[in-house]
Amino acid sequence: MRFREVCPQVFMASRGGVNMYVIAHSDGTVLIDAGLPGGASALIAALARFPDLAGVVLTHGHYDHVGGAAVVARARGVPVWMHPDDAALLAEGRWRRAGRASPTLHGPLLKRLVADRYPDEVPALADVLPAQKAIPLAGGIEVIHCPGHSAGQVALVWREAGVVFAADVVMHILGLREPILYEDRAEGLASIRRLAEAAEGASLMVFGHGGPLRDPGPPIARFARRLEGVSSHGRDV
Ligand SMILES: [Zn+2]
Ligand SMILES: [Zn+2]
Repeated sequence: MRFREVCPQVFMASRGGVNMYVIAHSDGTVLIDAGLPGGASALIAALARFPDLAGVVLTHGHYDHVGGAAVVARARGVPVWMHPDDAALLAEGRWRRAGRASPTLHGPLLKRLVADRYPDEVPALADVLPAQKAIPLAGGIEVIHCPGHSAGQVALVWREAGVVFAADVVMHILGLREPILYEDRAEGLASIRRLAEAAEGASLMVFGHGGPLRDPGPPIARFARRLEGVSSHGRDV
């Protein structure tokens, strides 16, 4: 695993189809998401080039995003932020809630092949700080609560460079796509609209799954409008 620069000061690493990010900043370098539990030692090694790591932000509580968090927090002695709605589960070493595959071509298959096969337990992590409005790292990161995929899902906006971390609010695999599964799709679609507003004028959007998207404002706005049209007619995408 290796962190590669996707824009100045923002680095991305991937393992098992899951992305992790670093914002390298003199005011406090931050890791965003910690990947699968099996990648924890590779993540620790990849983070060695960031000696001033000051904290970890988890975008939501799913198995593929929080797996390495407890190990990194312990090894580096740094605090972890996440939304309280998912922090309660992680404190108990759990992550799974009732959810349904998104009504898309890819949703049911990927849910069965990927999400349903993840174990129910993750390395537990308590004493998590609440990610609700802002994270005081990297000069300030805005938090946008985007429930639907997961109750405690957040997107992050780093205004200093115009970078939006969409996490699992949408995926970017062969185009913009709905997440594999939803706890509540109506909430999820409202969150995609909120994400589109946050992306107006942004220079880059990065995702939990899939590659970066430059100038994301227009495409994410189109995607949100298309979903709205489809869902109001009650049809699948
Ligand atoms: Zn997820
Ligand atoms: Zn994910």
